Amino acid sequence: MATLGNPKNTIEILNKYKFVFQKKFGQNFLIDTHVLDKIIQAAEISKEDFVLEIGPGIGTLTQYLCENAREVVAVEIDRMLIPILEDTLSEYDNVTVINNDILKLDLNALVEERNQGRPIKVVANLPYYITTPIIMDLFERHLPLKNITVMVQKEVADRMQAVPGSKDYGALSLAVQYYAKPYIAANVPPNCFMPRPNVGSAVINLTLHQEKPLEIKDESLLFKLVRASFNQRRKTLVNGLNNSPELPYSKEEITKALHSLGLSENIRGEALTLEQFAALANALSMSR
Ligand code: SAM
Repeated sequence: MATLGNPKNTIEILNKYKFVFQKKFGQNFLIDTHVLDKIIQAAEISKEDFVLEIGPGIGTLTQYLCENAREVVAVEIDRMLIPILEDTLSEYDNVTVINNDILKLDLNALVEERNQGRPIKVVANLPYYITTPIIMDLFERHLPLKNITVMVQKEVADRMQAVPGSKDYGALSLAVQYYAKPYIAANVPPNCFMPRPNVGSAVINLTLHQEKPLEIKDESLLFKLVRASFNQRRKTLVNGLNNSPELPYSKEEITKALHSLGLSENIRGEALTLEQFAALANALSMSR
């Protein structure tokens, strides 16, 4: 089987199986070997690693993963791709393809069964229509993870990496940075994909914090505060939090908590660091 990753071999496979792209599944296949190498490097894949790939498509990135990792499990929603993957991955005995929706699979059971519960790596050229739900789902399941290396829309990568005060800073920045340290490993133009997406892309690496980055008494309160602050971005934090149906605090309680942290009652959520949001959550949870 010829290696995929160059346009000629990709077109040959697509023609052989008369494959029809499904827009609803966010199918943009990689056709650039430099980008594929870059993903493997950014994920620091070695023969020790167990890798979960989300959305293998016709198996382009999967072939690279099989070459470099110990074991690969690839989860693909589109059943029309399964016979193609059997063909393109026929040379490898370290890969299992599962035909399912990644959001419906019991990933904790899979890691327990296939890797004895030891930490895994996640690698993907993600379908852009569900990037955030997939990443948040990986974090919130508290899967044993070393790192996540994914191709996402450039704009989403910028939001994940953003710091307080920048225009891209928001709930996604805080959620991602609570769990992991992000860095953008490469910017990728539309001509590296077939068909071309109409947005720029980037490869982002999220290395999971091995120790909790901060002391937080009530994790769900932290995320409610973050959501409420950025839902009403233009309002002061006091008004944003007070207006939120998810939160019970009065303006006086919120003002008092902010003052106890040395912050002004006129401050906006977009100015607060993750540590300050955590301190605010701790102050509010003690106020009742
Ligand atoms: N990895 C391939 C590549 O780089 O050429 C394909 C990447 S393409 C951007 C995204 C892939 O994810 C498609 O194959 C699509 O069918 C699959 N996909 C979309 N939604 C999915 C889901 N919920 N669960 C699993 N796979 C999904």
